[in-house]
Amino acid sequence: MRTKLIAGNWKMNNDLNESKVLIAKLAKSLKDLELNCEVVICPPYTSLSESATAIVGTKIKLGAQNLHQEESGAYTGEVSAKMLLSTGCEYVIIGHSERRTIFKENDELINKKIDRALKNNLKPIFCVGELLEERENNITEKVIESQVLGGLNGFSENELADLIIAYEPVWAIGTGKTATPEQAEDVHKFIRDLLEKRFSKEFAEKLLILYGGSVKPENSKELLSQKNIDGALVGGACLKAESFVGIIQSA
Ligand code: PEP
Repeated sequence: MRTKLIAGNWKMNNDLNESKVLIAKLAKSLKDLELNCEVVICPPYTSLSESATAIVGTKIKLGAQNLHQEESGAYTGEVSAKMLLSTGCEYVIIGHSERRTIFKENDELINKKIDRALKNNLKPIFCVGELLEERENNITEKVIESQVLGGLNGFSENELADLIIAYEPVWAIGTGKTATPEQAEDVHKFIRDLLEKRFSKEFAEKLLILYGGSVKPENSKELLSQKNIDGALVGGACLKAESFVGIIQSA
């Protein structure tokens, strides 16, 4: 049985004070709920440390949105896995489509980042997803296969015990367009089958595959009830406590 996970990617939103206010609202709403899922928030770097303090005693866990692939050194402006761990992070998003498109991250770099995260006991939330043009050209599976295998190149299944994958069709991110539950389920099943072929059935069955792309309380229940959808990576709707909690409740 896979326990569902709902993660909120705050992106470049919320200063320190806004972060504390949002966490306080979330914690209050979650306090009396009986949760059947894990809840993770991924605030910007500047709010991580204070967020770690603010979530003590709550049901919320902490993640970051990115990390640098090297352990330490002369990389001005970058943040290492060890630094994230020291703030209290347990998770880190890697290979988000905004990192791939705006910051030109490729599979090779993402592979190194996954490695760095795992070596520092951070759980990677490894994102993959096709562009609209790729879906329209019927090459979704080809794109997903090359992103998944590229990102996981060289790892053994034991090394990937803490891995989480997020399928996020790029055309659905921040656009208000959501993949239908069937479209999402098809790709999730494809990823699970691919992992079974690459690693083993046991590994594929255990791995969490989250869906991301305009998830909101109105569509989360149907998405999350699909057999191979094990949770959600939420952007826009995680910035308001009410909508994030709505999604959590539907899990
Ligand atoms: C995301 O950025 O990971 C995301 C899924 O965003 P949104 O929910 O806003 O589409």
